[in-house]
Amino acid sequence: MTSRNSKNSKKIPKNLKDDSKQMGKTWGRDKDIHPVTVLLSLLILLCCPLLVLAFWISCTHYSCSLYEPLHIFQINGISKETFNSVVIKNLPQFTWEGLKIYGIWLSFQAVLYAILPAKIGYGQRTPAGHILPYKVNGLLAWFITHVLFLTGAFYFKWWNASIIHDQWGTLFIAANIYGYFLSFFSYIKAYVMPSHPEDRKFSGSFIYDLLMGIEMNPRFGKYWDFKLFHNGRPGIVAWTLIDLSFAFAQYNQIGYVTNSMVLLNILHAIYVLDFFYFEDWYLRTIDIAHDHFGFYLAWGDTVWLPWMYTVQSHYLVRNPIDLSTNYFLAVLTIGLSGYYIFRAVNNQKDLMRRTDGKSKIWGKPAQFVRTRFTTSDGKEHSSILLTSGYWGISRHFNYVGDLLISLAECLTCGFGHLLPYFYIIYMFILLLHRIYRDDARCRGKYGKYWDEYCNIVKWKLIPYVF
Ligand code: NDP
Repeated sequence: MTSRNSKNSKKIPKNLKDDSKQMGKTWGRDKDIHPVTVLLSLLILLCCPLLVLAFWISCTHYSCSLYEPLHIFQINGISKETFNSVVIKNLPQFTWEGLKIYGIWLSFQAVLYAILPAKIGYGQRTPAGHILPYKVNGLLAWFITHVLFLTGAFYFKWWNASIIHDQWGTLFIAANIYGYFLSFFSYIKAYVMPSHPEDRKFSGSFIYDLLMGIEMNPRFGKYWDFKLFHNGRPGIVAWTLIDLSFAFAQYNQIGYVTNSMVLLNILHAIYVLDFFYFEDWYLRTIDIAHDHFGFYLAWGDTVWLPWMYTVQSHYLVRNPIDLSTNYFLAVLTIGLSGYYIFRAVNNQKDLMRRTDGKSKIWGKPAQFVRTRFTTSDGKEHSSILLTSGYWGISRHFNYVGDLLISLAECLTCGFGHLLPYFYIIYMFILLLHRIYRDDARCRGKYGKYWDEYCNIVKWKLIPYVF
């Protein structure tokens, strides 16, 4: 299996040259979007970077308190002077050193992605009918990166293990420079050198296209995939590396690493290692299979993910917490239960799709709806929608697992502040939005078969609740 239609990939099919033919909901992306959607997109483009900045300032200068800076405004009133002293004076600073470190880190990850031995995995069929090959070598890259980071810090003494924590502000600026560059580069690339022109979607709105992306699978050459690389490497490899560096920073500050920090590192490491161990499975999830590559993923993977998904470790450095054994075990149990659900549900779907439904679920033959769908090249294909096992409980029971893991990660921080709980609130909104997004996309893709499936599996997330 290789990229289908690859010979024609530089030609735009006639029916897509006139994008007025992309009527209504298509797979994953809309045309003629509502002005409210454009307005919301603009808000996301403006507010998300400000939110990350606000969190950075809060953690770096106010021990992760959201209340304290607001309280200063409350006492002194909203004035230019207060704004200068609370915000402007506290902004992260650009340094060439930060840019250099970030550049080396990113280039190193790009080289690992390109040269490490890889298994070739295949994504889901795209709306234009492509089945794309992907280099799957994230687990090896993760090990090499972490071993090198620790060896460089403790054996060669090239850097301090708390370097990421110590350079957190300058790295923030550097990552933003790259995140914005990547977003605009991807937007322009979609027009001037698209990888798979037939899989582009133009919404008619610059703002929406910049945010949600035009190209579905932008690539350099056959394998260098923007989505898989950026989500996996500057995003998810960084996740555990950042946690580790913040744990060392805590050690430097108080002389030991708290059990809350250890627990957080364990929970994040389980999730991250799972991601790379099952990287091939990830190729058929919504991120890779359906999302287009815009600011949402480009800036999201390079800035939002490394800064916001690790927010609990920023908190624990400033607010070291020793958990009681019972609390520790309770949080670990919630996290592991969440992980079990997350993995078991996702595995069931993956197994069923790989065997075309010819496997057993919970000891019984799988039940499913056999669907048909058409790609934009006019060809008809078949797929299955599982209706037994976890997938008979609700349409997104895998999200329940994710929410439990996220909750456990937040709970490692105790109940002193709101900021570490941002992550569970965010995950809840993200996954809820995904449920609606996915519903619209699947209805567009499968039509009456999706209705049939929804009639059998009535609940979206939690039976009898939602
Ligand atoms: P899913 O893996 O559930 O994928 C949804 C897709 O699967 C649908 O678009 C459809 O695609 C197919 N599908 C839907 N119902 C069925 C069914 N009954 N049987 C077979 N196939 C079905 O969703 P996500 O990609 O959103 O999530 C994957 C995992 O990643 C989840 O566990 C989620 O919690 C996690 N996640 C984590 C995030 C994080 O930031 N930590 C962010 C997002 C997700 P098609 O038919 O076209 O193949």
